[in-house]
This record gives sequence, structure tokens and C-alpha cells, in this order.
Amino acid sequence: MSAVIIDGKKVAQDIREKLKKEIEELKGKGIQPGLAVVLVGENPASKKYVASKEKTCGEVGIKSLSYKMPETISQQELIKLIDDLNANPEVHGILVQLPLPKGLDSKEVMNRISPLKDVDGFGPDSLGKLVLDEPGFVPCTPHGAMKMLEAYGINPSGKHAVVVGRSIIVGKPLALLLLRQNATVTICHSRTPDLKAECLRADILCAAVGKAKMITGDMVKPGAAVIDIGINVTPEGKIVGDVDFDAAREHAGYITPVPGGAGPMTIAMLMYNTVLSAKMAAGLPLNM
Ligand code: NDP
Repeated sequence: MSAVIIDGKKVAQDIREKLKKEIEELKGKGIQPGLAVVLVGENPASKKYVASKEKTCGEVGIKSLSYKMPETISQQELIKLIDDLNANPEVHGILVQLPLPKGLDSKEVMNRISPLKDVDGFGPDSLGKLVLDEPGFVPCTPHGAMKMLEAYGINPSGKHAVVVGRSIIVGKPLALLLLRQNATVTICHSRTPDLKAECLRADILCAAVGKAKMITGDMVKPGAAVIDIGINVTPEGKIVGDVDFDAAREHAGYITPVPGGAGPMTIAMLMYNTVLSAKMAAGLPLNM
């Protein structure tokens, strides 16, 4: 058996097209969604991520406000910038590209972002709402994973989902989203004694670890849907996921590639959250 490849690029494109239409309608009402992107320092990977977020803003019609700050910025100056952006009515979403350079307290910076503009969904208010099953900003990568399942008609209800990784930005929120959709969820981490046995129970297997090809083909239950969130660079400079794609696709029913799976979805869901925020600020219905 060879798995159906979940085309994250295509699903993301469909979401962007829908958002483009929504934004046109908002512009007709005099509303221009705006995303402030804060980049501190010269980290090449961060610069690349920021450039691709800004490019996507342009494509869908979101105004991108760019704040490229030197590595020498003080904590106080950065907090002041966040306060200004919180107060700026043109800004509906604030994104601070992580990691911040050494010496800056990223927790304080992230917590300073207004809950009304927390389009990354990493703040305590957003995460609290996720736990409480209340509407709010859902972290973009896990939200993107759920949208890929939905696009391919994979309903988590009644299924056993296994999430490998328990970070605040991917693993934990993804587990909560799967639970919200009535999956029975197991969360695995570095102290899980028999990872293979846990993975083999998964109808939906999600990997968010950051270790190249650690999920081998023999860890995939026949017919499972495999969502690979990992992004790893091999010594040869190739980008691969946490799942050994070639081996796993022989067992899985569905599988996401890396690149071309979770990555494009993350940016699409950031745009989604920014539009959601603009609608919230305008008191419009949130039927998206
Ligand atoms: P973290 O490093 O924050 O978390 C990694 C998790 O993996 C931890 O919970 C850790 O467990 C667990 N882990 C580590 N080793 C093992 C092991 N041997 N067996 C089982 N679990 C293990 O990473 P992130 O969640 O931030 O990111 C995960 C991956 O996803 C990375 O490759 C990252 O680049 C990628 N990513 C991709 C995005 C996208 O847009 N596609 C967006 C965000 C992240 P413990 O808690 O016990 O330490």
C-alpha cells in the first residue's frame, strides 16, 4: 500500500484564496487587516520565515508592518514597541519572530502582546481559551494540521490519535484540538518508555519532535494518517521531517510530506488569525 499524499501546499492555497475574498469584502467596509511582524537581530532562518510571512500577507491583501530591530535593542525598548503596537488600531496581529537573541526575555515580550492581537496563539489567554473550548486564536501549526485532516475527510472522532512532542507551540495544543474533535489522545515525549508501541496504536499519528526521520516505517499502523510537523536539516542540507517518509508511506493511509505539508499551512493559519482579529475588532460575525 502506498499512502495518499496530503498536499499541504494545495490546502494552504485554498485557504489563502478564501481569505483573499474575505479581505476584499472587509476592504469594502473600510477595514484593512494589518499584521505587525517584529524581527530582532540577524538570525538567517528567522529572516527567511519573516520574509515568507510578509510575502503571503501581500498575496492575500493583509497590510504587513515590518519592524526589523537591531540585536542591541534593550528589553525595555522591545516592550515599548509591543505596547505601541497593542495601541495601534491599524495592527490586528502582532508576531514576534522567535527565538529572540540572548539577553532578551522572550516570555515577558510574548506575554506583553495584547490577547486581542495574539495571532500566534501562544499567550496564556489564547491557550486558556483552547483548554476551555472557547473561541480564540488557535496556534497556527496545530490548527494547520487539523485543517489538513479536514481537507482530506479524516474525522478524528472515535479514532486513537498519538501526538509525539508536548511543546506549547505544537504538541500540547494539537493534542487539545484532537481531543476537541473527540479523538482519544495519547501524548508522547522524551520520557515515554516504548514509543514504537504507542505509535503503532495510532489511527492518526502526529510527530512534532525535531529529530530527522525518528518515526520509522515499522512505527506506523497500517492505514494511519501521518502528520509530520518536524523540520530538520540533514548534514547534506536537505530538509526532512520527523518521519521517514519513504518507509512510512508504505504503511500509512495518508501522509504529509516535508517540505510541502505543515509548513505552508502554518503561514496560511497566521493569515486566518489576522483576518479573524480584524473582524473581532470591527465587531463583525466570525463565521469563517
Ligand atoms: P520542542 O523542542 O519544543 O519540543 C520537542 C518535543 O519532542 C518535546 O516535547 C520533547 O519531549 C519531545 N521529544 C524529544 N525527543 C524525543 C524522543 N526521543 N521521543 C519522543 N519525544 C521526544 O520542539 P517544537 O514543538 O517547537 O518543534 C518540533 C518540530 O516541529 C521541530 O522540528 C520544529 O522545527 C518543527 N516546527 C515546525 C513548524 C512548521 O511550521 N511546520 C512550526 C513549529 C515547529 P520533552 O518535552 O520530554 O523534552
